[in-house]
Amino acid sequence: MIFTVAIDGPAAAGKGTIGRAVAARFGFAHLDTGLLYRAVAAMGGDPVAAARRLSAADLARDDLRSLAAGQAASRVAVIPEVRAALVAFQRRFARAEGGAVLDGRDIGTVICPEAEVKLYVTASAEVRAQRRWLEVGGDAAAVLAEVMERDARDMGRADAPLRAAADAVILDTSDLSIETAVAQAMAAVEKALPQR
Ligand code: C5P
Repeated sequence: MIFTVAIDGPAAAGKGTIGRAVAARFGFAHLDTGLLYRAVAAMGGDPVAAARRLSAADLARDDLRSLAAGQAASRVAVIPEVRAALVAFQRRFARAEGGAVLDGRDIGTVICPEAEVKLYVTASAEVRAQRRWLEVGGDAAAVLAEVMERDARDMGRADAPLRAAADAVILDTSDLSIETAVAQAMAAVEKALPQR
């Protein structure tokens, strides 16, 4: 079965948690596409050349999760040639036999507009910054500023800006528990699955 769940939304909205839960429940493969951009930025040098030679081993680096790595990722993600170099890998993953969940910023709009399920997971900047701060600590105001700066860059870029696909189910997790958000995502997938 070819079946794609596209999950888009801003940083720290809950995409990863929902994506992992959906993949585990339905036995689908899962790709956190933010890791591709984080790895390209971490490789240093010319980001276009890095994107063209990216391999699975580059995604296994242990320095990709920091706030700084996220900021650096969003800077290389504005470069159209970087994005273009990463499209084929993501499309192949999305349409591989067995089902796939991809989370990112442009999965339902650019990478896989034909996805059977599209979710747009969002939350207020304050709620997302609070979640991030609980993970990374430090200065709460600086974490909020980082979240807002990254939102502005991701939503404002010319190529593949972050936005909900017209046919996406919107999940605002500002006031939802993660259990409820996961349950709503599961229900959307169940509804779209071919009848067994
Ligand atoms: O999701 P994550 O925080 O790991 O993404 C890091 C950055 O990579 C984002 O802020 C965004 O600029 C970029 N990104 C993107 N398209 C994707 C996934 C991530 O532009 N599909």
